[in-house]
Amino acid sequence: MSPETLIQAPATSAPDDGSLFASFDQAVMSTYSRFPLAIERGAGCKLWDTEGREYLDFVAGIATCTLGHAHPALITAVTEQINKLHHVSNLYYIPEQGALAQWLIQHSCADRAFFCNSGAEANEGAIKLARKYAHTVLNIANPVIITANASFHGRTLATITATGQPKYQQNFSPLVPGFAYVPYNDIAALEAAIAELDSPERQVAAILLEPLQGEGGVCPGDRVYFEHVRQICDQKGILLIFDEVQVGMGRTGQLWGHQTLGVEPDMFTSAKALAGGIPIGALLCKSFCDIFQPGDHASTFGGNPLACAAALAVCQTIEQEQLLENVQARGEQLRAGLRAIAQKYPTLVAEVRGWGLINGMELQAETSLTAADIVKAAMAEGLLLVPAGPKVLRFVPPLIVTAAEVDQALAAVAKVLNHLS
Ligand SMILES: *Cc1c(COP(=O)(O)O)cnc(C)c1O
Repeated sequence: MSPETLIQAPATSAPDDGSLFASFDQAVMSTYSRFPLAIERGAGCKLWDTEGREYLDFVAGIATCTLGHAHPALITAVTEQINKLHHVSNLYYIPEQGALAQWLIQHSCADRAFFCNSGAEANEGAIKLARKYAHTVLNIANPVIITANASFHGRTLATITATGQPKYQQNFSPLVPGFAYVPYNDIAALEAAIAELDSPERQVAAILLEPLQGEGGVCPGDRVYFEHVRQICDQKGILLIFDEVQVGMGRTGQLWGHQTLGVEPDMFTSAKALAGGIPIGALLCKSFCDIFQPGDHASTFGGNPLACAAALAVCQTIEQEQLLENVQARGEQLRAGLRAIAQKYPTLVAEVRGWGLINGMELQAETSLTAADIVKAAMAEGLLLVPAGPKVLRFVPPLIVTAAEVDQALAAVAKVLNHLS
């Protein structure tokens, strides 16, 4: 097909007989189980589907659309940048990349940044850097990285191996060697694992943890546990790596999950919310990362002008619109409201937990209801939610969500539970 034909082809309007879904499923690989819903446009925390129905978005592209949809700051930054220069190789200095790196290191415990395109890729960078550190600084021939059960670190081979959930690894062996798993928030288990792995053959080089486990069911890290992990790492020279792909960029009510925990990592990763939905990932690290030399690591798209301009706009808007304050206030409002609902339906709801605007409502193990059942029922009420595992409903709205929108979401959840109880 010539480019002309492609341009002239009429836009297919969405049919309402379901054939959009059928033709989609013919052409796109079956890696996702999708809801029968196609979103056409958005504004703020609202979305509209191809039938014109309105939804309140408490998914935000899974904790990604920091500024909601069609935010003027993001539109302006991306439009201006694409008119000027959207991509150039890392063969050259990219001023927008430098400005983003400076903002990130001024607003975190890191000294340097490396940019890529996704969370998994950022974690791959962290794994490579930890291994190079093990080989060149610690003199460990077979370094092991400890991660937590129920963690989630991405879908590449190394990151499904790092992910402490067998369901993501099944049928993809052989996995990447050099990982071991411990229960989350359990210091005795971690100490035992480090001792057990301490042999002439292999030693622990790094510990990779989420400050709050997102996919694993919205489980916040325990402060005392993380303080203890930091001490162990300091005593033994082990690197502490935080995966902040889901919780970073203001979602916890602080810019970074490690600030909410009060514990600094040696390096951490960011992606999802970093550019508000424009693809980007980042590895942020203390200055020991200078062991990475030219040629050690790279990415064609990583840190290109368009993605960095978008991320800078997100960073500046978080500051200008004082979004961290909003996240704290709206998060408290949301948790208080969800806890009030939970009290009304004690046979359905086991617990409400979270930080800032990453919150989970766990269903009782005894109820036959799953989180997916509630997500479907909420969708019919015009509220979009996402499960975090089979029994946990996740609430991760854009950071710009208003008090009225939180009330609207709470009313929809109350209505759904009332119907289902
Ligand atoms: C989403 C997520 C990832 C993977 O990010 P991708 O951009 O999908 O590769 C890694 N870690 C955590 C904690 C995540 O939530």
